[in-house]
Amino acid sequence: MDKFPRGRAIVASEAPQIEILPAREASSAELCRVHSMEYLRKVSEGIWPSADRVRMGLPVDPRLYRRCALEAGGTILAGFAALEDGMAANLGGGTHHASRERASGYCIFNDVAVGVRSLRREFPDLWTMIIDTDAHQGDGTHELFSGDRRTFTYSIHVGKNFPARKVSGDLDVPLDRWVAGDSYLDSLRRSLESAFLEFEPDVVFWVAGADVHEDDRFGQMRLTLEHIRQRNAFVIDLVRGWDVPLVIVYGGGYNRDRELTNRLHALPVIQAAREK
Ligand SMILES: [Zn+2]
Repeated sequence: MDKFPRGRAIVASEAPQIEILPAREASSAELCRVHSMEYLRKVSEGIWPSADRVRMGLPVDPRLYRRCALEAGGTILAGFAALEDGMAANLGGGTHHASRERASGYCIFNDVAVGVRSLRREFPDLWTMIIDTDAHQGDGTHELFSGDRRTFTYSIHVGKNFPARKVSGDLDVPLDRWVAGDSYLDSLRRSLESAFLEFEPDVVFWVAGADVHEDDRFGQMRLTLEHIRQRNAFVIDLVRGWDVPLVIVYGGGYNRDRELTNRLHALPVIQAAREK
């Protein structure tokens, strides 16, 4: 998969002011703030019963553990960097379908949940908002933070798309299949700002999602590149306008044009760097 090095190269050339640091693997102790030890063992030993393998959607490979631990470690680092600098990104991550003992939809460890719990260990009173604008609902994240009053989960997604079984978050905005870009932006603006102002988060994790584009294979939305620029600007301006630290992670992207997927993933990071 070359989308991670390609995304990195795009960010490096278009936003050279951004300091890009290597990720590190999340330790098993860090991953266990979200997942069970038994589940970590299953992933590291490559034990995937066939139903689990189908739900995960990735080929079974012993290197998966390290890949996903790196993804979670990157989000932990981005979380702490955002608290220091106001804004940071993991050039990957956003594995929002993963829950405590369940991989789903290409997601094995829930990197944002690991990041939130890691910040919370250092700063127990931190109020965190997770803004998920990926085309699919963040069901795993919702499940993990259900009943946690210090974490607000927001997801705007296609109502009748993967995952078939939705898990309620604090605010869900389900949209029609093939929603037009203007209508999407209208729903986003009407729902997110009031939720953000009411909750008053200390930090925001944003699962951006590139699969809202009209040529995505799985997203089932009709946003153009310009709509996505406007979506990104709205989230960035809202969060940074209130001086709230912002952590950006990728989420999904499956465009027919693979290079466009890379560009769409890099775009929120580049836009955020311009706002800085
Ligand atoms: Zn998605």
